[in-house]
Amino acid sequence: MNASFSEIARALEPARTVLVASHLRPDGDAFGSTIAFALWLQSLGKEVTAWNEDGMLEKFRYLPGADLVHAPTGQGRQFDAFVALDTSVKNRLGTVLEAIVEPTTFINIDHHVSNGRYGALNYIDSDSPATGQIVFEFLREVGGEITPAIADNLFAAISTDTGSFQYPNTTARTFEVGAELVRAGVNVGRLSQAMYDRQPRRRLELLRHALNGAKFSPDGRIVSFALTLADVERLGVLPEDNEGIIDHLRSVDSVVAAVFFEELEGGKVRVSSRSKDKRVDVCRVCAQFGGGGHSLAAGARMAGPLADAEAKFLQALHDEVGRID
Ligand code: AMP
Ligand code: MN
Ligand code: MN
Repeated sequence: MNASFSEIARALEPARTVLVASHLRPDGDAFGSTIAFALWLQSLGKEVTAWNEDGMLEKFRYLPGADLVHAPTGQGRQFDAFVALDTSVKNRLGTVLEAIVEPTTFINIDHHVSNGRYGALNYIDSDSPATGQIVFEFLREVGGEITPAIADNLFAAISTDTGSFQYPNTTARTFEVGAELVRAGVNVGRLSQAMYDRQPRRRLELLRHALNGAKFSPDGRIVSFALTLADVERLGVLPEDNEGIIDHLRSVDSVVAAVFFEELEGGKVRVSSRSKDKRVDVCRVCAQFGGGGHSLAAGARMAGPLADAEAKFLQALHDEVGRID
């Protein structure tokens, strides 16, 4: 059962210190929702801490209020309330959880269908294309002011999670919210340029490498690409450079599902997968390996070595794609 927005606002009312956090390997929705929520709490006079396991990534520095976000600091810190945003499973908060004493009020706001409802108060809407859109609806309902800085963060959250208002989870409401955010001060041209037109050159080298190394299944419906630690070293790429590479593989007409395997330090493999057909549920495939996400975009962390993880995942994906025969 979802808590109502007013119940969540009421639970936050007495809190003086609030921690806001999101998932590791953060994306635009993770940061945008975190910062927007933190700015709103600050406007209520609360002492707000915003943490992310990976700290503030350089590529999201354009977000107003980016300076608020830090990697977890300290041990056993006490907060009156803790708000987790855009985080399907508790352990994707990383060491944020270890750094705090269990807070009195634990709120979980998210749009992942696989969300574990681990909060004391949960608001999960898997029809919402971005947690940023839920935060917008929340602020509207509880009378929070959408300042230009909050508007930029929510617009970035929604734009990045919908592939610039393209994915099937984009509804009429998403455009209405987008329009309201523009009225609240978003400069679409400037913000979009910061989001999509300021890539470091090494990312283009990574894309070149991905296009050269892409492997198609014989029927062309599955495409995959594996990035080794040696590749990472040679290309000098950062984890955040990987985001979106898979979209280029997915864009091929024959492709139904695309997968990106990334070798991690310590022998694990990060899997990132996308589907273009709602009958092919990549969340179901990722769940077989302990992961989750959305039906059309999901991930998992598997045991290595890379070649074994690739073979296992591709077999399971092949079976899933076989559903549409
Ligand atoms: P990504 O492929 O990393 O962009 O993630 C796609 C979606 O899957 C996101 O909504 C993530 O929250 C989710 N996801 C990615 N990795 C995992 C994981 N290891 N466990 C659960 N969900 C994941
Ligand atoms: Mn996210
Ligand atoms: Mn999201």
